[in-house]
Amino acid sequence: MKTEVVVWLVRDTLRVSDNPALQRACQIAQSKESKLVALACLEPRRWAGKQFGLPRIGDHWARFRAQSIFKLRKEMEALDAGLWLSAKEPIHAINWIHQQYSVAAVVCDDPVATEERLEIARLESDGYLTCRVYVDDLFRPEQLPFKLDKLPATFSGFRKLIEATPNLSPDRPINTLPTGSWIVQPWEDPIEWHKALDIPLYCNKEVPLLGGSEAAYQHWNAYLDARALSHYKETRNEFYGPMQSSHLSAWLSHGCISPRKIWWDTLHYEEKVESNESTYWLRFELLWREYFRWYSRNTDRTLFRKTGPRNRLLETDQNHCRFDMWKRGQTGCDIVDAAIRELNYTGWISNRARQLVASHLIYEFDLDWRLGAAYFESQLVDYDVASNWGNWAYIAGLGPDPRGGRIFNLNNQANRYDPKGFYRNRWLS
Ligand SMILES: Cc1cc2nc3c(=O)[nH]c(=O)nc-3n(C[C@H](O)[C@H](O)[C@H](O)COP(=O)(O)OP(=O)(O)OC[C@H]3O[C@@H](n4cnc5c(N)ncnc54)[C@H](O)[C@@H]3O)c2cc1C
Repeated sequence: MKTEVVVWLVRDTLRVSDNPALQRACQIAQSKESKLVALACLEPRRWAGKQFGLPRIGDHWARFRAQSIFKLRKEMEALDAGLWLSAKEPIHAINWIHQQYSVAAVVCDDPVATEERLEIARLESDGYLTCRVYVDDLFRPEQLPFKLDKLPATFSGFRKLIEATPNLSPDRPINTLPTGSWIVQPWEDPIEWHKALDIPLYCNKEVPLLGGSEAAYQHWNAYLDARALSHYKETRNEFYGPMQSSHLSAWLSHGCISPRKIWWDTLHYEEKVESNESTYWLRFELLWREYFRWYSRNTDRTLFRKTGPRNRLLETDQNHCRFDMWKRGQTGCDIVDAAIRELNYTGWISNRARQLVASHLIYEFDLDWRLGAAYFESQLVDYDVASNWGNWAYIAGLGPDPRGGRIFNLNNQANRYDPKGFYRNRWLS
């Protein structure tokens, strides 16, 4: 008889600590007296896929992901566990495992967008028992003060409901270490992973974005120790600076640190150090992230179509020449060009810079907003499907924006947030 295994399918949650899916996989395996397999896939849909002629992932994301996988494997090894790595789609990797063992269940994060949902649906239609866990959300659906299909139409509506619900807090981070009996990977690691590990870190001098939980914790602790949280709201719109904002996005997007930990740490900071509008505001931004996750689940395929979830047609096109100028940072608008060059070089730009380049692409260059979203997808080290496509749709006025779109006055914005031109000089000279 074949040995029974429970598979923990690691998608965008590359950590051991506070990982409810890993915990759940261990519990199921214990109850069934099964063995465990932790499996991370370099899915061809992402690693080899293209959209609008652009690769789905770029060097910044691939390097960070490869490092985070490397670090997760180390964390797993410290628990006498392993991490299998496959360059196949999950269904094919799991079918292979099922030929050697008997797969009792596949445990993974609850999908936030269409492709991830279809990935799980495929597993289910092939007869696998799946268990979806809310790993990287602040709240579980049963905690939310509304039914999922009644998600408030705007972020403000969502936030107010959340904040008005008595005793509603994210679960406290799980501190216990998972236990179980793990099977060792029987094949060689994929070449794609080695190649991605060899990609050099394009130095963002301010915050070197190294993958993995250890770097995430070090960075977050340094941010708290420096008391930068106490000034977060005043500095978050600046274009640069090691602590102008938290710089947590890459670690959150790849799941190296949990949003619940960040949430509870800010509360602890308020108790022990200081409580002010800034310390609250980081949680406010985490609620934006949360809102977009539920919004993406709700809007599903419509989030990726030209007319967006609002089903409204913008008079835009996909002109190659204008798009090329925008991608190279050669639009002639200095704040946009500086930001795009920083993005191309480092894989990261501030929230304000993201808003400005998006506004420029949609409203100055009259380009299809999805080109911008796809370009961000290929460049951002912190690419996250819900935050990226949700924010782009929002600025295009096709998402959950009560004002029907955000058009920024780019000169005013540059003068306001880069009054002495340091940022522009840095990236344009
Ligand atoms: C067009 C556009 C595309 C974007 N694409 C992405 C993306 O692919 N991945 C991504 O993580 N963020 C994205 N954002 C949101 C935001 O710009 C980044 O999360 C933020 O700039 C990252 O820097 P930080 O970690 O220092 O953020 P902080 O200001 O320190 O915020 C803390 C955390 O809150 C969350 N957050 C903050 N602002 C937002 C927001 N507007 N929407 C959703 N979550 C938010 C992020 O997880 C962030 O790490 C996008 C914004 C725009 C306007």
